Amino acid sequence: MLYIRGEQVYHEINYMRFRELPCRTFFTRLNEPPRIIKETNMKEWTKEGNVIRINGEEIPVIFDGDVAVAGGGPGGLGAAIAAKRLGASVIIVELNGFLGGMCSYGAGMPLGGAYPGLKTIGGIAEEILTCVRTAGKDAADVRHMPLFGDWYFHDAEYFKSFIAKFVRELGLKVRLHTMFSDVIMKDDRSLAGIIVDSKNGREAILAKAFIDATGDADVCARAGARFEKGDENGDMMGGTIVYNLGGVDVDAYMAYIKEDPGLKKAIEKAHADGFPVSDDDKFSSIHKGVRPNSLFMNSVRVRGVDGTDADSLTEAELEGRIRVQEEVEFMRAYIPGCKEAYIMNTGSQIGIRDTRRIIGEDRLTEKDCLDLRKRPESVILRCAGPFDNTTRGHARTNVLNDIIMEEWYDIPYGCIVPKDLDNVVVSGRTFSCECMALTSSRGQALLMGLGQAAGTAAKMIVDAGIAFKDVDVAALQEQLTKDGCDLFGRE
Ligand SMILES: Cc1cc2nc3c(=O)[nH]c(=O)nc-3n(C[C@H](O)[C@H](O)[C@H](O)COP(=O)(O)OP(=O)(O)OC[C@H]3O[C@@H](n4cnc5c(N)ncnc54)[C@H](O)[C@@H]3O)c2cc1C
Repeated sequence: MLYIRGEQVYHEINYMRFRELPCRTFFTRLNEPPRIIKETNMKEWTKEGNVIRINGEEIPVIFDGDVAVAGGGPGGLGAAIAAKRLGASVIIVELNGFLGGMCSYGAGMPLGGAYPGLKTIGGIAEEILTCVRTAGKDAADVRHMPLFGDWYFHDAEYFKSFIAKFVRELGLKVRLHTMFSDVIMKDDRSLAGIIVDSKNGREAILAKAFIDATGDADVCARAGARFEKGDENGDMMGGTIVYNLGGVDVDAYMAYIKEDPGLKKAIEKAHADGFPVSDDDKFSSIHKGVRPNSLFMNSVRVRGVDGTDADSLTEAELEGRIRVQEEVEFMRAYIPGCKEAYIMNTGSQIGIRDTRRIIGEDRLTEKDCLDLRKRPESVILRCAGPFDNTTRGHARTNVLNDIIMEEWYDIPYGCIVPKDLDNVVVSGRTFSCECMALTSSRGQALLMGLGQAAGTAAKMIVDAGIAFKDVDVAALQEQLTKDGCDLFGRE
């Protein structure tokens, strides 16, 4: 029986190659139940005109070009913009009705991570940040956050419009409301195309290079590439529906939290009164909003959600929505300045902090971060940030600032290249790293920079007809530098 390369293959591969990985990773994965794999062979297909035929099914081809990007978040945007500007024909597919990923569905989650060592990473990330910073009445509020550096508190509604105009002016081919669902394999290590699902039904996208920016490594997993998920116990960080609370007397609120940081006393009182407030929620993650009389609420914490499982996601969305309303009622009842508070807007979906991370040609470790390891020969992005390990498993949020603000570590090129695939790279939070390393390196603006490297490398493999692992990293660095990236902290 021939299978789409999928998670069953992944289990077999894991077993065979576990010696390459720490044992804890091996056991974590072996304990996961095998998934159902469809009994089809996506290797057997033919193309006639604008249609491909797979297993008797005719699927229209909507793109046949150089680079296909799955996922329109910060990682996907950086990649698609870079490849397009370098002259590649590019399509980006996004399951939501807007681009931006967490920048847009995070209700204004501050764009962070772009200033490791207090110096900009430059390139597309800085270009986007500059636009967002200088947007007049819609301008982001840039605040220097202790431990985290400069954060761009922004209006996600503005970001959605801004990025729409940006990609339209660039002439980027965008397909919204469209979800990557399957791979068309060329051989065991390469994709010929991807299958997407939308209102139009199933459609095919053919390309020479693929960028998996789904935030969950959906493409890599579907193609059978190895990955890790969570920590040594398989535990992932908690999810959050972010929202903005309007109708707040912000001065009164700010004055109150000086005497009750994290709202601990108020929560104690609410519990004593039998008022429902979750112990998991993190009320120290409330900030002054970007709009008048508002608070930005990054407080809900839904534990145990697996963002790669629709049932788990559904439960988390329901729990998250209930939690938002409970929080609002708690704020109204117990917190000065919030009596008239109401929900201004919420993230359109729960924010997922981590799921799959690929097994790549290289790997960023926790020690690399702590040692501020620099690899000038392979760096594609500078990075810094505290280990922000948010409600993982049963643990409480733990923010460790072991990385000094004036310094940084490098993310090497091999971290975006899956060991098992030739013409796919990842961009975004799924790059190859230990789980603690990701807690330090997942800022949105930063991942736009990782995307720029992925998109630039994609154009290089298309031109040279080579595999991603064979990219000349020095030439990649040269191109990135030419395009405004500061890989070495020189500026
Ligand atoms: C609650 C929370 C708080 C955070 N706080 C901060 C913060 O303060 N500052 C900061 O900088 N970062 C923060 N982060 C981290 C940051 O938001 C993420 O690390 C970053 O957004 C990851 O970028 P990405 O492009 O990999 O994924 P995403 O931003 O998730 O984008 C992935 C995109 O791919 C799309 N997609 C997914 N699957 C498919 C598919 N199969 N087909 C088509 N499209 C698909 C999604 O709809 C989405 O648009 C936070 C994250 C969360 C969840």
